[in-house]
Amino acid sequence: MEKKLKSYSYINNQLHLEKVAVKNIAQQLATPFYCYSQSTIEQNYQCYIDNLQALDAMVCYAIKANSNQAIIKTLADLGAGADVVSQGELQRALMAGIAAEKIVYSGVAKTEKEIEFALAKNIYQFNVESKNELERINKIASKLNKVASIALRINPDIDAKTHKKISTGKSENKFGVPIRSARQLYRYAKELSAIHIQGIDVHIGSQITTLAPFEKTFERIKTLVNDLREDGIDISVIDVGGGLGVNYQQKSAINHEIKDYCTLLTQSFADMKCQIILEPGRSLVADSGLLVSQVIYLKQGQERMFLIIDAAMNDLLRPSMYDAYHKIVALDKHHEQGTYDIVGPVCETGDIFAKNRTMERMNEGDLLVIDRVGAYGSAMASTYNTRLLIPEVLVKHDKFSIIKARTDYQTLINQDNYAKWQK
Ligand SMILES: *Cc1c(COP(=O)(O)O)cnc(C)c1O
Repeated sequence: MEKKLKSYSYINNQLHLEKVAVKNIAQQLATPFYCYSQSTIEQNYQCYIDNLQALDAMVCYAIKANSNQAIIKTLADLGAGADVVSQGELQRALMAGIAAEKIVYSGVAKTEKEIEFALAKNIYQFNVESKNELERINKIASKLNKVASIALRINPDIDAKTHKKISTGKSENKFGVPIRSARQLYRYAKELSAIHIQGIDVHIGSQITTLAPFEKTFERIKTLVNDLREDGIDISVIDVGGGLGVNYQQKSAINHEIKDYCTLLTQSFADMKCQIILEPGRSLVADSGLLVSQVIYLKQGQERMFLIIDAAMNDLLRPSMYDAYHKIVALDKHHEQGTYDIVGPVCETGDIFAKNRTMERMNEGDLLVIDRVGAYGSAMASTYNTRLLIPEVLVKHDKFSIIKARTDYQTLINQDNYAKWQK
């Protein structure tokens, strides 16, 4: 039976995440803060697993989407692997309990130190982005008396039809090996003594909302795998990357999208006799998260009413960086409405969450939430304007727990030192 996925809901006109009234969290923990529903993440992961039964599949959570240890542990406890793009993320994954044999290492420029570290930990696979990187991995592995298992990341020259800043599979993007030179590079890799060719990898971008670009990509990858097999190169792993998009307009769960995507994967690859690796980030965690914030001022501008809230672009960059839409709703549900430009306090014109947005009428001191911010929210936060990184809270059923505490200004400022001649 299909489980019903939960997003936030109103009980007695009070916004709840799972069974927790978000206002109760806000009373203990000043705004702004992130809070995430653990059950939503679990159900999203389970939705992948349930719909991948016909494949030998491994779901490797793309840590960069939300790298809080409690989020990684939630997925680790379900048996997920990890896709990492830096040594820091690799350490996070290992510390949260993800076994090295379930970790794939992506990223366009792994340094020598990072490669050494990953080899020492015996990770499952390096997703290699260039000939130079291949040679470097070979050299380091030789030196350490190790053999590195690799996949070449192929740039299939496909337009993922997503925002240009998160499109990665076009020939003009910096990512991967051009599909036309892939066969040649595989032949070259075969000659390298410390390289074990394990698979092929592709990742065409993020927030992809139709299946067509995936379908085209998978066809190209299949053709290439068959060509490589003709060349005597054994491919046993196909890593399809991440990228499945989330409908940010909607409140309903993402299980239909995941299901359709898994059906496409099954149709595409069931006959390939390969392990299939998936690297979902956003689709596992985006709809689990809320950003809770308070109205500081209502400001009447010349033409519009500004709702100035205590969260800002440094806490949630997506609207300013990607022109992203996020639904914004009041914690106390009521029927009077207002239309606002919802902005943060940061000294940037781009510090805007929504323009000309109609929502519940708000007053100074009222609380609101920005919806579906579980992915690329806290992970992209900064301390710009000397604002503290905001706390994070995990909710499960009727419980909540702080999974990242607020620091204080002294701690932040003390990270700087005067130059030794300034003392
Ligand atoms: C960012 C990234 C992902 C995750 O993408 P989502 O859109 O969050 O699913 C997966 N693989 C690679 C290589 C990435 O860079």
